[in-house]
Amino acid sequence: MTRRFSPLPAAMAVWLLLACLLVSPARAAVDVSESPGELNLGPHMQLLEDAGRELGIDDLLGRDVPLPWRPTGEETINFSFSDSAWWLQVELANTGEGPVRRLLELAMPLHDYLDAWVVDEAGEVVGAWQTGNRRAFDTRPVAHRTFVLPIPLPPGETRRVILRLDTHDGLFDATPLYLLSDGSFLYKAQRELMAFSLYFGALLALMIFNLLLYLVIRERSLLHYVVYLGTFFVLMFAARGFAFQYWWPSWPTFNNQMLPLTIGLFAVTLAGFSSSYLNLPRYAPRFSRLLHGVAGLCLASALPALLGHYALVFRIMIPAAILLSSLMLGVAVWRSWLGDRLAQIFLVAWSVLLVGVSLYFLRVAGVLPYNFFTEYAVQAGSGLEFLLLAFGLAYKINLLKNEKLAAERATHDLERSHSLRLEAEVAQRTRELEAANRRLAAMARTDPLTGLLNRRQFQELVDEELQRRRRSGRALLFAVMDIDAFKLYNDTLGHQAGDEVLIRVSDLLQQHFRRAGDRLFRLGGEEFGLLLEVDKLDQGRHGLEAFRQALEDLAIPHVQAEGGVVTASFGLVCCNDYRRVPDADRLYREADEAMYEAKERNRNRVVTRAILEETP
Ligand code: GH3
Ligand code: MG
Ligand code: MG
Repeated sequence: MTRRFSPLPAAMAVWLLLACLLVSPARAAVDVSESPGELNLGPHMQLLEDAGRELGIDDLLGRDVPLPWRPTGEETINFSFSDSAWWLQVELANTGEGPVRRLLELAMPLHDYLDAWVVDEAGEVVGAWQTGNRRAFDTRPVAHRTFVLPIPLPPGETRRVILRLDTHDGLFDATPLYLLSDGSFLYKAQRELMAFSLYFGALLALMIFNLLLYLVIRERSLLHYVVYLGTFFVLMFAARGFAFQYWWPSWPTFNNQMLPLTIGLFAVTLAGFSSSYLNLPRYAPRFSRLLHGVAGLCLASALPALLGHYALVFRIMIPAAILLSSLMLGVAVWRSWLGDRLAQIFLVAWSVLLVGVSLYFLRVAGVLPYNFFTEYAVQAGSGLEFLLLAFGLAYKINLLKNEKLAAERATHDLERSHSLRLEAEVAQRTRELEAANRRLAAMARTDPLTGLLNRRQFQELVDEELQRRRRSGRALLFAVMDIDAFKLYNDTLGHQAGDEVLIRVSDLLQQHFRRAGDRLFRLGGEEFGLLLEVDKLDQGRHGLEAFRQALEDLAIPHVQAEGGVVTASFGLVCCNDYRRVPDADRLYREADEAMYEAKERNRNRVVTRAILEETP
């Protein structure tokens, strides 16, 4: 880099001076011995557009015709989308008595190509660097995430600093330029590093904590949050120049692919998190898909970065990102409006971040002054956003817990009411079953037509009674009764009328013999058995006779019977000699024989047979 020397004629020099004054009226050297420790160089810079990108440093230094330099007039230099190369120059003077060193910082870590020269008063290049984000990290004279150029200034001398800014494919970032003393730089760098360390440390802590929380609770939105936070971490780490400095200093190409890809990924994780946090698949499934679609577009627009396109990526991504942000804001406002607490927290968090981003861009655009707050507004906004979202997640987990508890309680209540109902049903069924059993047992014991005990019962009860009498020695009275000429009754009046007679006779029996020990049986057809509880044998005999008479007096018409009414014949056994009556069959036979005797003796009478112990 040698200076091409070209002597200027005096007349030309005057003309040139005038021209220069016209084109760049503000060109004046910055006196570093008087400037503060930290100076914003932006307003002191002169600017030259090299639209054809054909100028070299030699053209600038050895030019016969003046170049159209003009003052920047800006705090922060910003060319945005531009295919030109841009030249900047500033003159630094040291009017002091001792040597001074100043650091020129181009505080934009993502700038692609930065070529810099320091030229002395004689027009000799005394320092030159070729660095930038698209060149390896070790091309930087000071190992720092931004570009820092050391400029020594001997006493009483002036130095011209020339910068050439160029891009890979036409996208510039807003570029603040500072002139710093060593002490100021150290102070600024330390302050920044402390702020960034706090910030990244907080993000990491939030990430790890929420990851652990996810591992325990398994709530999906926690995982979405961790991934969202992680992507944002990498994005910020790369955007602020730390990733290039610490992670991949020798891979500038990869570094330049990483950033757009991380922004695309961030859009996707943001959509994923918001969707799961706000429960969009449940409340607004179509909107959730739209959100993912726009986020997918952001990611897709980052793919050309892999083929070396950078400016193109941002031409597509910026509108997509604005659309995505608007959609997110829209859905947050809508859900908040509906009273969704989670959405309200989300809305506050998002607003905080947007305020931070807006402050940052307003500063970059020069509307707001450079200060600590405007420089770190994005960090402050996003840090607060993440904290608020963590709070929102805690709130969500609490909601889920309450929902779960309520569901458990409802299930428990349901189970309880079920089991109560079941118990009641079982009790009811049991009662019904018992009643049915009782009915069945009664049916097994009784005769369905008359309701009297049946033949089987006769067998059992009489055997029991015999044993009891054997033990107590008390007398036993048993009678068989048979309705007279019943076949004829049936034949003339029909079976139905016969049944009615059977019922009336048995009713009469029940009215007559109602002592606790009395047992009445229907032994079959029109034949009945009577086991009677008596204090004395005579009493029983009279009772039976009274019944016979009562039946006759009932006067159920029976034209073919001898007396014209329904009557019955009785065979009665009085017993206290139980050796001769071993069982029910025997007792029945004895009574039956007596009854037949009654039949033979013209019916409608009681024949008594006594089986009595002979008194010694
Ligand atoms: P006797 O005076 O000798 O006892 O003459 P009887 O006709 O009563 O005797 P028999 O044994 O010849 O007839 C009994 C009749 O009883 C036969 C049947 O028609 C009638 N009978 C038996 N069981 C029932 C019944 O459940 N309902 C009705 N309606 N009639 C019955
Ligand atoms: Mg009979
Ligand atoms: Mg009969």
